Amino acid sequence: MARILITSALPYINGIKHLGNLAGSMLPADVYARFQRMRGHEVLYICATDEHGTPAELAAAAAGQDVRAYCDEQHVLQKEIGERFALSWDYFGRTSSPENAKLTQHFAEVLEANGLIAEIVEKQIYSKADTRFLPDRYVEGTCPNCGFEKARGDQCDNCGKLLEPTDLIEPYSTISGSRDLEVRDTRHLQLKQSQMEPRLRQWVDEATSWPQLARSIAYKWLDEGLRDRTITRDLSWGVKVTKDGGPREGFEDKVFYVWFDAPIGYIAATAEWAKATGNDWERWWRTDKGAGDVSYVQFMGKDNVAFHTVSFPATILGSEEPWKLVDRLKAFNWLNWYGGKFSTSSKRGVFMDSALELLPSDYWRWYLTSNAPEGSDTQFTWESFQGVINSDLANVLGNFVNRITKYCAAKFEGQVPAAGTPGEAEAWIASELSERLKALTAHYEAMEYRKAAAETRAIWAAGNEYLTKAEPWVKYKSDVDAAAVGVRTGLNLAALFAIIAQPIIPDTAGKVLGALGVPDDRRSWPDWQDKTLLDALPQGHAITPPEVLFAKIEDASVEEWKERFGGE
Ligand SMILES: [Zn+2]
Repeated sequence: MARILITSALPYINGIKHLGNLAGSMLPADVYARFQRMRGHEVLYICATDEHGTPAELAAAAAGQDVRAYCDEQHVLQKEIGERFALSWDYFGRTSSPENAKLTQHFAEVLEANGLIAEIVEKQIYSKADTRFLPDRYVEGTCPNCGFEKARGDQCDNCGKLLEPTDLIEPYSTISGSRDLEVRDTRHLQLKQSQMEPRLRQWVDEATSWPQLARSIAYKWLDEGLRDRTITRDLSWGVKVTKDGGPREGFEDKVFYVWFDAPIGYIAATAEWAKATGNDWERWWRTDKGAGDVSYVQFMGKDNVAFHTVSFPATILGSEEPWKLVDRLKAFNWLNWYGGKFSTSSKRGVFMDSALELLPSDYWRWYLTSNAPEGSDTQFTWESFQGVINSDLANVLGNFVNRITKYCAAKFEGQVPAAGTPGEAEAWIASELSERLKALTAHYEAMEYRKAAAETRAIWAAGNEYLTKAEPWVKYKSDVDAAAVGVRTGLNLAALFAIIAQPIIPDTAGKVLGALGVPDDRRSWPDWQDKTLLDALPQGHAITPPEVLFAKIEDASVEEWKERFGGE
């Protein structure tokens, strides 16, 4: 049994996430966690809300709430919506936890002791009207690169250029709108990433199992030269800056920058999990305390790769302490909305909560996994969604299960028939299964989601082809025993189809397995070499036809949803 630690990029606290966020980190991490649990491995899947930084403060202010109260509320919303999407986190923590504050302060102090953090004086924009500094998004102005008039202090949304607040032309405060600003000196901590470059490069060189997308992004950053990075901000919401465990002189009104504390949140959320469940978190994270045999897999969108392959490892490696580093990293491209971007800030696309108002989570989980933005960006369109759901789920899987279970109920008293001897059709499907199950397992191990979904569908389709060959409904008229073989094999196929569907569509799979009376301990991942797969259900065992598994999506619904959510 292997031990597998899984984290997905932390969703930011400001509001319910859209389907693109789900498709590019939380969902594939969940599918992988479910698959590896079914394989019998010890899996720990950790996620959390990323709660610090100016967007949280601004969103709280816009909602007229205290930032802590805002985050409390939003965290619960995100946790609930994730659970409704059947995301099987072992723990969903928060970067605003005491655990994260303690670990973040620890890392900063250790890095400083190792000569990797220096105090520097920086020029920052100060607002006299607001009597405070204006970091990041607290200041807007004209982009020096493209002339866009509402560029933010950290980035221009028009041209994408990363900015410093002092780069902006004609800046103004986003709190009061005041233009009575001046540049003042302020002390900050700077992480000497440039000193870490050779060590990071060596580490990336050795990470030969990372996918190409992740490695090329890491090398791009390393080749451009790592810049030393200011890791504190003039803000009150965040992790306080310490020295020797106490408040750091001159830093009383400052906190760590969100990008410094957020990835440490993976470790801290594991500590939260341990506290809540009485487990030991260090055996997942400290190689000197039992984490030596842990395989650590991270899931994220491509915009997060540099932070996971360069910035966070700089913190970990720079500490010189035996922390677990990522072993495998799966990065995704973008899921786009009709050629444009999904956007939380401009409310473009379908968000997780409204998706569930339309259809149950399995519909979305299947579509987003079978169309995962792996090799390149992919488009969400209602037409493609409708096509995939109607074909894969309603026709190929749903019809198969309904047809065979109803026939068994009608002709064999709802019991797995015992009579008859397997023949040519059964030999064909057995060899088909063994080959395809082997391929499917390999796709999951390689975290190839499109291929895994396509192979799952191909296995379901092979079942339909088997029924066409075996045609129990025709044989029943002349040879009931021959029909019995077809029904028995068909029922076992239905059970197997649901078992292999569990990582992607767990709710529906559970319904089918319940209707077929498959006990929990017989739902683990099938071995492709197992010769009894088609005779796993006990003969005479009672089954119940499930309700119709998937409703077809009608053209009228597509029209209505296009109207409601936009499209084209
Ligand atoms: Zn610009």
